Amino acid sequence: MASHIVGYPRMGPKRELKFALESFWDGKSTADDLQKVATDLRHSIWKQMADAGIKYIPSNTFSYYDQVLDTTAMLGAVPERYNFTGGEIGFDIYFSMARGNASVPAMEMTKWFDTNYHFIVPELGPNTKFSYSSHKPVSEYKEAKALYIYNNTINREVIAELKAAGASWIQFDEPTLVMDLESHQLEAFTKAYTELESSLSGLNVLVETYFADVPPEAYKIITALKSISGFGFDLVRGTKTLDLVKSAGFPAGKYLFAGVVDGRNIWANDLASSISTLETLEAIVGKDKLVGSTSCSLMHTAVDLVNETKLDGEIKSWLAFAAQKVVEVNALGKALAGQKDEAFFSANAAAQASRKSSPRVTNEEVQKAAAALKGSDHRRATNVSARLDAQQKKLNLPILPTTTIGSFPQTMDLRRVRREYKANKISEEEYVKAIKEEISKVVKLQEELDIDVLVHGEPERNDMVEYFGEQLSGFAFTVNGWVQSYGSRCVKPPIIFGDVSRPKAMTVFWSKMAQSMTARPMKGMLTGPVTILNWSFVRNDQPRFETCYQIALAIKKEVEDLEAAGIQVIQIDEAALREGLPLRKSEQAFYLDWAVHSFRITNCGVQDTTQIHTHMCYSNFNDIIHSIINMDADVITIENSRSDEKLLSVFREGVKYGAGIGPGVYDIHSPRIPSTEEIADRINKMLAVLETNILWVNPDCGLKTRKYAEVKPALTNMVAAAKLLRTQL
Ligand code: GLN
Ligand code: ZN
Repeated sequence: MASHIVGYPRMGPKRELKFALESFWDGKSTADDLQKVATDLRHSIWKQMADAGIKYIPSNTFSYYDQVLDTTAMLGAVPERYNFTGGEIGFDIYFSMARGNASVPAMEMTKWFDTNYHFIVPELGPNTKFSYSSHKPVSEYKEAKALYIYNNTINREVIAELKAAGASWIQFDEPTLVMDLESHQLEAFTKAYTELESSLSGLNVLVETYFADVPPEAYKIITALKSISGFGFDLVRGTKTLDLVKSAGFPAGKYLFAGVVDGRNIWANDLASSISTLETLEAIVGKDKLVGSTSCSLMHTAVDLVNETKLDGEIKSWLAFAAQKVVEVNALGKALAGQKDEAFFSANAAAQASRKSSPRVTNEEVQKAAAALKGSDHRRATNVSARLDAQQKKLNLPILPTTTIGSFPQTMDLRRVRREYKANKISEEEYVKAIKEEISKVVKLQEELDIDVLVHGEPERNDMVEYFGEQLSGFAFTVNGWVQSYGSRCVKPPIIFGDVSRPKAMTVFWSKMAQSMTARPMKGMLTGPVTILNWSFVRNDQPRFETCYQIALAIKKEVEDLEAAGIQVIQIDEAALREGLPLRKSEQAFYLDWAVHSFRITNCGVQDTTQIHTHMCYSNFNDIIHSIINMDADVITIENSRSDEKLLSVFREGVKYGAGIGPGVYDIHSPRIPSTEEIADRINKMLAVLETNILWVNPDCGLKTRKYAEVKPALTNMVAAAKLLRTQL
């Protein structure tokens, strides 16, 4: 059995690409410097796969920003506002589309299927002109090919064999095939690949699917296509695929790329179980037609376990990052070809067994409490409009109240303070003093800006999930386990390896301190259970909802402690609730049910007068609007700056919404400063579809990644816009 990798992380084991990009954007280095870093990264990745023994190595999985934007560039489908005049697209236009520039905003960004990766959404319309405007796929293929030829470590036999056969492979990523496509969409797919037939002849084409099962109808259609020689299936998330292949069969002479190594998680593969899956498939598709593969691109997992210096040996033995997964795929391939590495397999079996029996994984009490939640319902006793009245009596806010989402800019100084405290270079006393000063600065600024509901700015937090994970039991942390989120931004998801509990209060100290500095309401700021779950590497030895209920119980305790400490407004961020939505419709209701229930569990016990806010990132709320309402928060702030119209159309269509709502009035992902008129204009659009008394005015997400030089004028304009409209209502 041969081996294949769908795609590989491009940031580098120590985020080399991130730093090169940011320095280039800041004008501190040249395009050549950036290209050099990128070339080195690509080469080391190819060499690593080749050294491991992988037969099918992908090229063009690298990207300076996003692979979908690369495709848009290749097609020359540049929106008019970027003034593209033809030729090869350079960094200027490419990065303007990605990030906007001083005069034009960026293109819309949205999540890649159900991952935390964001891609740049192509803007295609009847007037889009296509032209071949980026030769990146070809140049990267040539670059990889040149390396093979000059690099002695690479298996010459493979090259010879490929050459003799005159074959090379093209991989088309078609994860959309796992969605419930309508028949006209499937027809379009057939048409496209049939049209390509003649240009593809002489080439092997792999259609790679991932993130779920391919539905039976789509399976039937694609496996019948002549121009396709291989099919990639995700056998980790696609739990029904094996049965489908068994019952529906597989076309003779075609290749099946079996994604048995999980590209979305960090757990070591259960090699014995993968072998049995692969043997079953081998019996169906034939010995030389089965290829062992990753379930999807490895860009959704961490890069290399070798750089983890702080994880203890036991936990480390349970894990595999991208570099280790490449080795696993190869070991599986070899084992099926009769060259099993016995030592590797027995070490793997021992690690699997140790994980199953480790006392660090199980906490009986937590298991019991979470089990008791199943099938029950938890919600606040009073309805939302009565609660809002009770809250308003206490809070006494103006109409169109202003607030922010939580974080304020994180300066270099601030990051240094946190780093030094973590490294024991400064005392706790010094640390508390520094953070207190920061909070006080942020509180004063908000008072000067005349914002109504304040935040403490989250200066003590590196990351909204990591901060909580570090204080909860059952979590482990990496030092370099970065995963690309968008552009140069990476996240370092915690690893949930065991039952979750909260040993002590996590945020009360800071929130109480912040509240003591002002007479205005200070929001307590928490991350919700669904977001903690969706932004972590979650254990795969129990259903996700069980882990989520455990986290919900821990956050519930925090909510109650904040309330007891006198915090009247508590925001529980569910930034990532939407992205956990299963891709297949048949699985969505179940997810939404336990996810929304988990959120309500956290705050069902508070008084009517305690105002619960939640915040959600990213568009496409329309299909889950009823679940959002069912979360029963008092106020929701929603990111929508790159897709205003979509969100508002829900309300235009008559969805009844009685709780407070703050659709973001400007985009914080861009350095651009919105004018007062522009913000007022947007608020007016919202007022056209929403009741005046439920509308809040806020940016669309946290301000952590912005600079004060951007935040101050932007918030000044935001407050001015709210005040202007108040006088007109
Ligand atoms: N409270 C968080 C912040 O402001 C929310 C971030 C997010 O939604 N991604 O940083
Ligand atoms: Zn957000």
